[in-house]
Amino acid sequence: MQIGKLPRKRIAVLPTPLYELKSLSRKLNGPRIFIKRDDLTGLAFGGNKARKLEFILGDAIEKGADTVLTAGALQSNHVRMTAAAAAQFGLRAVLFLRGKEPSAYKANLLLDRLLGAKIEFIDFDDREEIIRRMEAAAEDLKSRGSNPYIIAAGGSTPIGCTGYYVALTELLTQVNEMGIHINHLLLASGGGGTHAGVVLGAKALNFALNVIGISVSRPADAIVERVSQLSEETASLLGHKLRFSAVEMEVYDQYIGDGYAIPTPEGLAAIRLVAQTEGIFLDPVYTGKAMAGLIDLIANQRFHRDEAVVFLHTGGTPALFTDEKIWNR
Ligand SMILES: *Cc1c(COP(=O)(O)O)cnc(C)c1O
Repeated sequence: MQIGKLPRKRIAVLPTPLYELKSLSRKLNGPRIFIKRDDLTGLAFGGNKARKLEFILGDAIEKGADTVLTAGALQSNHVRMTAAAAAQFGLRAVLFLRGKEPSAYKANLLLDRLLGAKIEFIDFDDREEIIRRMEAAAEDLKSRGSNPYIIAAGGSTPIGCTGYYVALTELLTQVNEMGIHINHLLLASGGGGTHAGVVLGAKALNFALNVIGISVSRPADAIVERVSQLSEETASLLGHKLRFSAVEMEVYDQYIGDGYAIPTPEGLAAIRLVAQTEGIFLDPVYTGKAMAGLIDLIANQRFHRDEAVVFLHTGGTPALFTDEKIWNR
């Protein structure tokens, strides 16, 4: 894979820790559980987007951008980390957020404001229209002599996915140094970019790792399709031809609950359990639901006792502070 040829900015603090969660594993009477702490990537409270942004900002800066534009939900982690990375490299950030301006700025939205980003609230739920608005804003900036760069929502593009191919090389090194054998890696899958990078990394590195995706928004078949396509596109960006088939992917969509970013009782219980057994915080939108999936799969005997599972902690912890009412149960 031709990683060295892609422009990259060092943004994430790497490698992120990998270690065993013995108390949790004992509590669940489960397989060995390891955690890969990508919530500790260092940029503005951390998370998976830091790895994607290393290559995305590398590309933007190589193209001479002075402004980055991106879009996401009101409480998007991607948007917060993009604003932080832009600040670090002296670029302006314009953020298109789905929703009404709330009366109080909390959690990620508060951080976006502290990071000095320009925020546009788009009060309707039409992603195509938001993209059109972002493109119009970029045209407007160009006409005024500026050099804008649009970052797709979630950074789930082949350039962004490359960050997770690199993460798999990092994980393989850690596993070898620790002398452990890992059978499965479980992660939250949203836009699918992280998932695609992981699947590509495992295959390209001949790392016999079964990747389990827990959907936080889309139906499983939509994830499989998107992840296969993104992995193939990323492989081709890196100068390889690889094909992915649906049978190689294990994806579950029954832990979404009522929808994206709507907390589930099981997800909130998983957050409390991991906090109380390991002192680690998950988040209500992604990793809490992914952990609820892991807990349920363990209860349903999906794993052998002597197998080992890596839980990829993709971050998102600022969302714990979005709405205190969810904790009053
Ligand atoms: C964005 C995000 C994900 C999902 O990543 P995708 O690459 O969009 O699938 C998972 N966890 C957290 C905390 C995130 O912010």
